[in-house]
Amino acid sequence: MNSSADSRGQHSDISPDPAVREAMSWTQSARFLTTASLLTQLPPPDLPEVAFVGRSNAGKSTAINTLAQHRRLAFASKTPGRTQHINLFDLGPADAPNARWADLPGYGYAAVARGAKLRWQQVMADYLAHRHALAGIVMMVDSRHGFTPLDKQLLDFVSQRVGMGEVKLLVLLTKADKLSRNEAAKALAGAQKVLGELATDAADISVSLFSALSRQGLGDAALTLRNWLPREAPPEVVFAAPAAGPDSADVEPDADPAGLSPA
Ligand code: GDP
Repeated sequence: MNSSADSRGQHSDISPDPAVREAMSWTQSARFLTTASLLTQLPPPDLPEVAFVGRSNAGKSTAINTLAQHRRLAFASKTPGRTQHINLFDLGPADAPNARWADLPGYGYAAVARGAKLRWQQVMADYLAHRHALAGIVMMVDSRHGFTPLDKQLLDFVSQRVGMGEVKLLVLLTKADKLSRNEAAKALAGAQKVLGELATDAADISVSLFSALSRQGLGDAALTLRNWLPREAPPEVVFAAPAAGPDSADVEPDADPAGLSPA
């Protein structure tokens, strides 16, 4: 399992590591795509998708906004009507997005009516179990509380896909700025122990302390997410064969390659 425990407090956005800088400029390309209240409304599964999940109030919206460097990309609305949507964001070049983030509704919010809660649990369960494009899950867990029973249920639920390596998992222990150095080390060790139960040879599981406030763990989180993308194949270099034929040697070199001469 990968884990990082940087406890220096304030973290600069300008990382000396070019890979981190590249990853952060990629996460900052996140832009709103659409919202879905039913799985049938999701876009076609044509890009690798990463789902952001977490108990309501764990800091999910804040983490997404911080990764995207966007104050209100994911909005933390707590009104029941607004919590029951999957919001989708595209990442990568505007004309060629290369990944999608899916912000799933926070669970465990007491004010959601029981019927709506059950319906949403089902939608989320279906999404996590069956969404073909799902490549990774980012789970936000409040570092002061550790995994709640609902978080553990969700881990159980995805353990098979994670264990097979089909879906990667990053756990962000949020609000780490509220912990002392000692508490932070304990929170990390506690989470590692729980996640150890999911570990297999094929699984790709990371856990990291994270704070939107101090920006601790931000570069690492961006790098992990960036590294989940399949690397693009280098552009194919095609050497054009010289035109064969009796006239090919007679072709005049182009005296005006930029096409600037008046006609
Ligand atoms: P969500 O329900 O999971 O989307 O949670 P929010 O992102 O709305 O955050 C819940 C509360 O935690 C808000 O009051 C945030 O300001 C606060 N919060 C989120 N991230 C941090 C953090 O890194 N540090 C501190 N101190 N507070 C945070």
